[in-house]
Amino acid sequence: MTPDVRPLVAGNWKMNGTRSSLDQIKAISEGVRNELSEKVETLLCPPATLIYVATAICTESPLMIGGQDCHPETHGAHTGDISAEMIADCFGTFVIVGHSERRSDHGESDSLVRSKAEAAHAADLTAIICIGETADERKNGQTLEVLKRQLVGSVPDGATAERTVIAYEPIWAIGTGVTPTVEDIAEAHAFMRRELTDRFGAEGKAMRILYGGSVNPSNAKQLMAVDNVDGALVGGASLKAEDFLAIYRVY
Ligand code: PGA
Repeated sequence: MTPDVRPLVAGNWKMNGTRSSLDQIKAISEGVRNELSEKVETLLCPPATLIYVATAICTESPLMIGGQDCHPETHGAHTGDISAEMIADCFGTFVIVGHSERRSDHGESDSLVRSKAEAAHAADLTAIICIGETADERKNGQTLEVLKRQLVGSVPDGATAERTVIAYEPIWAIGTGVTPTVEDIAEAHAFMRRELTDRFGAEGKAMRILYGGSVNPSNAKQLMAVDNVDGALVGGASLKAEDFLAIYRVY
């Protein structure tokens, strides 16, 4: 946690979810509304095919809806891509950029991720910019160096705390059930906070830094209590409403 920073619990459904999953979105939306908390914000990023219907489900709920990726341009000849404007047009308010699965499946570079974040900002979306080291980089003691390079390369100049969220996701912790120790998370988050504050001043101090990678209802309390951890980006455990809500209740 960071003093005076409102944490964010964000679900990333990845390539999961069809119309048959709408009952889970409804249950999350209603759960968050019924157990209203001023202490924390909530976000769900379903696949693009469900964004519009998800925002319609959430009109009465504080649960926000976002996309999982966007193209750096606003429109044009880019078959299969969606723009930040299209997400905003569906009433989405956030977009994840630079997830490690995009970086590896689609060869996305830091500079591409940065231009996607800029596109998100231009469309008035909040960008969740993902960074994180591989298992080998950690083994070789390069974690902080990698985080620094990714922060410098992927976060646009002029980023504000309102429109930018950082998600630290060690690649080896994603979907594996393995998490770093709280000491390792504390070290990484303190390092990122220093880097962000050096570059963005007060905005960097207030920018949310989420932890992601195998967060679940059993470990969320411990992980979310770490200094400079301002919420979670949750994959697998966000698919079921009861798990998402259990993580939400940590706050
Ligand atoms: P996980 O995924 O919670 O299933 O590990 C997190 C993510 O990739 O955002």
